[in-house]
Amino acid sequence: MAHFISDDCLSCGSCAEACPVGAISEGDAHFVVDADACIDCGACEEACPVGAISAE
Ligand code: SF4
Ligand code: SF4
Repeated sequence: MAHFISDDCLSCGSCAEACPVGAISEGDAHFVVDADACIDCGACEEACPVGAISAE
């Protein structure tokens, strides 16, 4: 399990700032979650203004 960022991402960066383990970085098309680093805390999901993040 890990959290996942959909194509709805606007690349605002809020999730990357909220992530306690630095698992989110800017990818080619939009921000992405490193599934190996994600601890499923849910902080990014709450930080996203467009609901682009959900648990896989
Ligand atoms: S669920 Fe938590 S650990 Fe995983 S990417 Fe989001 S903020 Fe980071
Ligand atoms: S908070 Fe949402 S819109 Fe902003 S970079 Fe993260 S996934 Fe994309």
